[in-house]
Amino acid sequence: MNRIDLKGKRALVTGGSQGIGAEICRHLAACGASVFINYNRNEEKARSLAKELEQRHGVKMAYGGANVANAKAVKALFAQMDKEIGGIDILVNNAGSESVSHVLEMAEAEWDRVLDINLKGPFLCSQEAGKRMEKDGGGVIINISSIHDVVPRLGLIHYCSAKAGLKMFSKCLSLELADKNVRVVSIAPGAIETDMNRDEIAKFGKDKFEDWIPQGRIGNVADVAQTVAFMASDMADYINGTDIYIDGAYMNSTIPYDPRPARGDQGE
Ligand code: NAP
Repeated sequence: MNRIDLKGKRALVTGGSQGIGAEICRHLAACGASVFINYNRNEEKARSLAKELEQRHGVKMAYGGANVANAKAVKALFAQMDKEIGGIDILVNNAGSESVSHVLEMAEAEWDRVLDINLKGPFLCSQEAGKRMEKDGGGVIINISSIHDVVPRLGLIHYCSAKAGLKMFSKCLSLELADKNVRVVSIAPGAIETDMNRDEIAKFGKDKFEDWIPQGRIGNVADVAQTVAFMASDMADYINGTDIYIDGAYMNSTIPYDPRPARGDQGE
């Protein structure tokens, strides 16, 4: 019995309409969970994903629009979720956004936007989910962070600050909710090919990323989603308050900044 089994579990995935979030919905549904897909602007993508997964896996799927940074919208989203899938056992705080902006030119509104989506959103959603999980005897909260919660990056000071905050938020939340039988895990991807970074990958070239990433490839959405499914399951029952980095050792590499020949390739 070593397959991930989420039968009977109810999950909410924020920003589940595309990219990593959509793949997380696919994996959770494939493991038997009912999934409520949150979107912000892309209702059509959420609707068709819900239909596809309901048909393929025979699980209950639903979807609802909300900006995760808006407290009123989040409350309404959870009320809709209660009605449509009957509650929550797994929350995946996946919705996120970034932009490239230098601190000396950054508009206050852009700082607020990025901090709100990446950090305030998980706070608001975890608060709603935590109250329900406490009542129901437990649950799992998974926060999708980034290697940039510890690796600083030029032009991403707002995003890096938000994800660093999210990393600590996860740790504090695990302390607050452990006695309610709620586990909290932070999952931090490296470079994963999605709409968020497609332009950047095209700008530098895929082969550059393949050189920079020690494992020699850019990550894919399944690399992240399968870890989320495992973390959400009872197989991960004693994993709590920690961070998992999924990056092919990218964050351990200083190659782009400090190029040195590999061992055994030093021309001796
Ligand atoms: P993506 O393709 O741009 O998708 C972002 C998702 O977030 C979309 O579904 C979008 O919904 C939703 N979203 C944006 N703002 C929202 C808001 N205010 N309220 C609710 N939903 C909102 O990005 P991704 O690459 O899949 O990223 C997913 C998560 O992984 C993010 O937290 C990101 O920071 C993190 N991450 C990504 C990478 C990477 O290399 N891709 C690396 C590290 C971490 P709509 O389309 O409906 O608006």
